[in-house]
Amino acid sequence: MSVNLQTPIDYLKGVGPNRADLLRSELGIHTYQDLINLFPNRYIDRTKYYKINQLQDNSSEIQVIGTIVNIQEISQKHGKRLVATFQDETGSMELVWFRGIKWIKENLKRNIAYVIFGKASWFNGVYSMPHPDMELLTEHEQNLRSAMQAIYPSTEKLSNKGITNRVVSKIMQQLFLETKGKFEESLSPGLLNSQKLISKSDALFNIHFPKNQDLLAKAEFRLKFEELFYIQLQLILKNLIHKSKIKGLTFVKVGDYFNTFYTQHLPFELTDAQKRVLKEIRQDLGSNAQMNRLLQGDVGSGKTIVAFMSMLMALDNGFQACLMAPTAILSVQHYNGLHELCKPLNISIKLLTGSSTTLERKEIDETLQNGSLQIIIGTHALLEDKVVFNNLGLVIIDEQHRFGVAQRAKLWKKGPTQSSQNEETKSVPTPPHILVMTATPIPRTLAMSVYGDLDISVIDELPAGRKPIKTVHRFDTNRLKVFKFMRDEISKGRQVYVVYPLIQESAKMDYKDLMDGYESIVREFPIPTYQISIVHGKMKPSDKDFEMQRFINGETQIMVATTVIEVGVNVPNASVMVIESAERFGLSQLHQLRGRVGRGAEQSYCILMTSHKLGNDSKTRLETMTRTNDGFEIAEVDLKLRGPGDIMGTQQSGVLNLKIADIVKDKDLLKHARFCVQQILKSDPGLNQSGNIAILKTYRALTKYKNIWNYIS
Ligand code: ADP
Ligand code: MG
Repeated sequence: MSVNLQTPIDYLKGVGPNRADLLRSELGIHTYQDLINLFPNRYIDRTKYYKINQLQDNSSEIQVIGTIVNIQEISQKHGKRLVATFQDETGSMELVWFRGIKWIKENLKRNIAYVIFGKASWFNGVYSMPHPDMELLTEHEQNLRSAMQAIYPSTEKLSNKGITNRVVSKIMQQLFLETKGKFEESLSPGLLNSQKLISKSDALFNIHFPKNQDLLAKAEFRLKFEELFYIQLQLILKNLIHKSKIKGLTFVKVGDYFNTFYTQHLPFELTDAQKRVLKEIRQDLGSNAQMNRLLQGDVGSGKTIVAFMSMLMALDNGFQACLMAPTAILSVQHYNGLHELCKPLNISIKLLTGSSTTLERKEIDETLQNGSLQIIIGTHALLEDKVVFNNLGLVIIDEQHRFGVAQRAKLWKKGPTQSSQNEETKSVPTPPHILVMTATPIPRTLAMSVYGDLDISVIDELPAGRKPIKTVHRFDTNRLKVFKFMRDEISKGRQVYVVYPLIQESAKMDYKDLMDGYESIVREFPIPTYQISIVHGKMKPSDKDFEMQRFINGETQIMVATTVIEVGVNVPNASVMVIESAERFGLSQLHQLRGRVGRGAEQSYCILMTSHKLGNDSKTRLETMTRTNDGFEIAEVDLKLRGPGDIMGTQQSGVLNLKIADIVKDKDLLKHARFCVQQILKSDPGLNQSGNIAILKTYRALTKYKNIWNYIS
């Protein structure tokens, strides 16, 4: 009978209650299965022999074959040390002992080949290895050993309590003894064959006790593939189940609003990417499942028009549509833009924000409920319970990262209640279709793993004729030149943003920087020749809006601001973005800020100001910004610098709690695993074919024992 891997770890020989407690609390190991999935961080490779001229400072443990040509005892401040000169045909190094000198000296043999093993470091012009493991070459050759030794993740507490790497290794060996190293295969024969994967048992054995480099590589590959495969399987199935279970509103036709707009009022030719995305949306809306789609598109890629045309599809089918934006300013901008587009079509559209008057609200409430209002634009105010729709068919959420999943869910409930024979579903509203738009370019690999429950569309093309923004990095010492440049641009009729970091709302220093900067700009750009707006987080929302509006209207030439302008504002006449203390901003923030310019026909500029003191990461960020305007490329660099957890926020990082694969390094494998999942589900959606038994079984176990491989939050 095979050993049940759900057995608590306490039952393993060599693991008493104390050790079990420590393994649980420090490493999250509760069961045999958890232990098996404790994958080593690295290996000490005892199959490879280094030559002395190949040594590197502070490398991991290495081994060298050579002979001792000289032994010397050296007195030092505290006691003595023993130094042996060790040679191979490429050079010489030192072996050093501080303890047990007498015994060692007596036993060391000169001019006989040894294999030494340890960590070498560069010291006083020569490589030295303290207290090496040594073996005569002749003996070394006779010994049988597992050539590569696994080094496991550990914590300070574990090593303090005596659970060293050796102990973990021993426990692991015990587990392989008890299970006889036989583990149930979790992938299908088809996959093993087509992907040239080694079996589960071989992979687990070789990940813990690799026989050689080649088998280790095969074991890693197989386990990484498996991990990514099951993440994708779970996400894709979740999405499919959602689609089959959650009935959506079917928009059967593309009607007059859409066609009239498309043929007569479209202000420009759509880009191919916009057309493609519209087709994807059209397909969703026409199917009878609820759409849950993420629309990614770099700043300025033209998401708004896509949103509007999707709304027209809703209207054509007799439904209402709403668009929610994270700030009042943005809502107003959307409203103003869309209002213009609605005019020739005779579509009713209104705006709802926190500052809507009682009278306005009353009218909105009435017309929303009787269905005469077709489109509503607004802020969070739209989420309030008293906002009741007559027949809400489509919800569009702009700049998604400002809204949480909970808010998405709230909008769901605002869908129409359809008459139904079924008692159970009678009063349950049918959720509207949802389109979430974001300008935060999430690398596709990450999006695939995190937003698996959303379908993804990407606008990966800017409208024709845009001039790429020129980005430069300037040191604070060159400020006067930057001021001159600003004056030149303003004299051409352009407007300028100057942005200061505001990392924390409460940070006094940041406000001081902002106010100091503001004053020096007021001095450089005196009234009445120049008018300056200022916007920061400590201002009342109405004051902020007022200042923003002055800038939008062109009444002020310079906007001094903290990062409150980060999201979405559209002032096509602004052509210069100066970012102060740019080294303090993250890459995605810098990119968002830069996206505020380059929206008109003029050449635009982004100037990154920093002091001379720059860390390596800051340098990489600045170099990336000056090199490229491509949001996705920038996002990839950001992902490398910060890791996925930071990018997605702690909320979602659980999803990325990978055991062996690395979402950055293994992104090609991730894509491939996803492809394999899709292929399998295409021919066997229910995983019912006999060839897929192992997959179905593993999938069920994963969703049952969430704590095992803690993939899904
Ligand atoms: P974002 O994706 O950042 O929300 P917008 O939808 O605000 O971008 O579009 C940015 C600007 O580009 C707007 O002024 C819009 O009218 C314009 N635009 C959008 N699509 C096109 C297109 N296909 N051709 C020309 N201009 C376009
Ligand atoms: Mg936008």
